Amino acid sequence: METFHLDRPRSVAEAVRILHREKDATVIAGGTDLVTLLRDGVATPHRLVDVSLLGLDRIEWRRDGGVRIGALYSNAVADSRLAREYPVVTEALRAGASAQIRGMATLGGNISQRTRCRYFRLPEFACNKRAPGSGCSAIEGDGSGQAIFGTSSSCTAVHPSDLAVALRAVDAVVIAQSQRGSREIPMDEFHLLPGDTPHRETTLRPGELITAIELPARAHSGHSHYLKFRDRASFAFALVSAAVALDIRGGAVRTARVALGGVAPAPWRAVAAERVLTGKRPTAEVIDAAAKAATEGARPGKDNEHKVELVRRVVRRALTELGQR
Ligand SMILES: Cc1cc2nc3c(=O)[nH]c(=O)nc-3n(C[C@H](O)[C@H](O)[C@H](O)COP(=O)(O)OP(=O)(O)OC[C@H]3O[C@@H](n4cnc5c(N)ncnc54)[C@H](O)[C@@H]3O)c2cc1C
Repeated sequence: METFHLDRPRSVAEAVRILHREKDATVIAGGTDLVTLLRDGVATPHRLVDVSLLGLDRIEWRRDGGVRIGALYSNAVADSRLAREYPVVTEALRAGASAQIRGMATLGGNISQRTRCRYFRLPEFACNKRAPGSGCSAIEGDGSGQAIFGTSSSCTAVHPSDLAVALRAVDAVVIAQSQRGSREIPMDEFHLLPGDTPHRETTLRPGELITAIELPARAHSGHSHYLKFRDRASFAFALVSAAVALDIRGGAVRTARVALGGVAPAPWRAVAAERVLTGKRPTAEVIDAAAKAATEGARPGKDNEHKVELVRRVVRRALTELGQR
């Protein structure tokens, strides 16, 4: 591991001052992802800014029913109101990692974590995300875990966060703070697709710190569900996951959200599936049609055709289970 300077600011103002001044400074929260990258020589920052003393670990309910969750809030979520009013969020967090890792990990770190693509994590392979312009070993290599949506000729890596998928289903907003002030980034705009610049993964600007994630009060959020399909029952990233949320009035779907994980370089909204559901009664036939529509635009490679069928099955099952609640 390379040596680095460690800052431990005591206020958000002090943290963003350091991030503004020190251009190569990297934020560290729980360290569950970043420390592995440092250890393996994938990340080599000269300066780390530890944000664990900033008091950003609180959850605050608003009068309008929405909630603001601090970026340092633990992934070992234990808020019964959150579980009741945003089940998809709590279920996604509980589906991630192990109890020990969840206890260290934070929400801000979770949505900012780097891909688990093996070619990114092993410096001996070419990776445009780790070393821009070096090539992509995954394109010629084992593509079984790679993305089927939103890829480019530069990168096919999958975004690993369960939480980020759930946040797209509840219209979450990321709050970012810099020396210039605070701004809101809708979750739909937070992650970037790779294009020619796969090393740029989010719309967070240099010098910005995530301070909170806001969940607005929306009728569909309360009737929501996260389903994760993986190689083994615990401690594994999603092969395919679905976050579904439906606002049903008078038997028909007024608003639908279907977001997918494990299949794209960013949490993926299956808008064609949402369109199929909207305005209809969520019968088995409609759910089946939505599940098929969820793979509209999929472009699997030679090794990951199976993900197309998995998406259909996971979406169908997630919507069916939601209907049984
Ligand atoms: C064995 C293992 C299994 C796992 N399984 C899963 C899983 O199934 N599902 C899943 O979703 N995750 C999984 N994870 C990932 C884990 O949840 C993340 O590592 C964790 O959520 C990251 O949070 P952290 O606070 O430790 O972030 P850190 O490691 O401290 O930081 C991660 C990244 O976020 C940035 N960052 C952190 N906080 C902020 C902030 N406030 N503002 C701006 N940038 C910030 C850092 O600069 C860094 O780039 C697993 C991890 C391990 C080690």
